[in-house]
Amino acid sequence: MLDLLIKNGKVYTEDGFQDLDIGVVGERIALVGKPDATIGAKTAIDAAGKAVLPGIIDWHTHMREPGLTHKEDFQTGTAAAAASGVTMVCTQVNTDPVPDTVEHYRLQVELGEQKSLIDFNPLACPLAYEGGWVPKLAEQGAAWFKFFQKCAAYPYSTPASTSDTVRILKAFQAVAATGKFVAVHPWDHFFWDEAVRIVENAELPMTLKNWRHHTYTDAEMTGAAYQLYYLAKTAGVRWYALHAWHRGYIDLVRLAKAEGKIDVIASVEMMPSIDAADDIYDPANDTWIPVGHDAAPDADYLWAAVRDGTIDLLGSDHAPHTRDEYRPDDPLHTPAGYGMLDWYGHLLLDYVNKGRLSLERLVEVSSVNGAKAFGFYPRKGSNIPGTDADFTICDMDKEWTIDSKKIYSKCQLSPYHGRKVKGLVTHTIVRGSVIMQDGEVTGSPGFGKFIVPGEI
Ligand SMILES: [Zn+2]
Repeated sequence: MLDLLIKNGKVYTEDGFQDLDIGVVGERIALVGKPDATIGAKTAIDAAGKAVLPGIIDWHTHMREPGLTHKEDFQTGTAAAAASGVTMVCTQVNTDPVPDTVEHYRLQVELGEQKSLIDFNPLACPLAYEGGWVPKLAEQGAAWFKFFQKCAAYPYSTPASTSDTVRILKAFQAVAATGKFVAVHPWDHFFWDEAVRIVENAELPMTLKNWRHHTYTDAEMTGAAYQLYYLAKTAGVRWYALHAWHRGYIDLVRLAKAEGKIDVIASVEMMPSIDAADDIYDPANDTWIPVGHDAAPDADYLWAAVRDGTIDLLGSDHAPHTRDEYRPDDPLHTPAGYGMLDWYGHLLLDYVNKGRLSLERLVEVSSVNGAKAFGFYPRKGSNIPGTDADFTICDMDKEWTIDSKKIYSKCQLSPYHGRKVKGLVTHTIVRGSVIMQDGEVTGSPGFGKFIVPGEI
């Protein structure tokens, strides 16, 4: 007797999509094939005409807990994730406190275990290396290490930041000893100062819209990334090239992979690059907030790099803030980012339908590759019998319009309000439990598990 049977779907396998059924017992996949018609199931889902993906894992989310729960928390953030087909999230380190000691890390794990609807892994920050915390954080189960290359005086800086290159090198050396990847958000404050001067010299008002697209330029990010790559090589650490959306940075990733001196994986995130919004809709006040976007990438070049294997991972960079924190006329005191998770999985399907990548490649960059790189495979990132029964079921032909009546994120603002998309996630299933169906999230807080690399 099966607990769940997913019938008639196009199921992702190591050999491509195939017409198969999936049977689940408890939290695990019990069979993938054509079951005997006499086998009963407590629940059946007819997935005829739909694709059954291993659950989408969002490698880059800001759940804001602990410390910044006025913006988001594990419950609201993971409900938003479930709404668009995400079955597991990695949570970023700019919380308060920063997860840089075992106590701080465990606090985040415990909050996730109490409130998360889906599975999760908090990343750790290696900047407290002097206290000897880095190997202990690796032992706790952090998938990888992350920090920001920023100086303290700048907008949305966090204690998980440093622009001190000696500290960056020492943190890299500490992470190298653990065998984990380290990711750094590349940044160079001289370019941000220049962005201010560009707006002033043009005698334009200092607004987000006038200023923001002069930030995170190719020269800024690629220059910083070259430095990070050199320091990573010096330390012999596995380098996770984060936010690799500009041409020069993508070329650097190719060069670094070809050199083969250290392990390199690379990601782009939807929110600040691929799918950056200029304005976000505030449903409560029926107004659009002009937020502007960072220097735009060469989209054709970027997607080619996703297709050809240069870019290994996608993430949403779900980065929610409250309505009041957006100050369109005060860019230097406005945080960056906005909520993404309510729409992330659906938007990915739309990009498949737009021909930017195949559905197979989407599964790789949104699930399989990261699961393999960070030690979660095959428990996560596969549809192999015996592994966690996590699925994202998709109607690839459904055309619909994003509405903002219902947003699960605490950030009740919608960057994609009114956008027409093709492709809809119809079911989110985590370890055998349906936690979203047809837009209704039914999962419960505390169901989500802390997933540790290497666990079968
Ligand atoms: Zn981020």
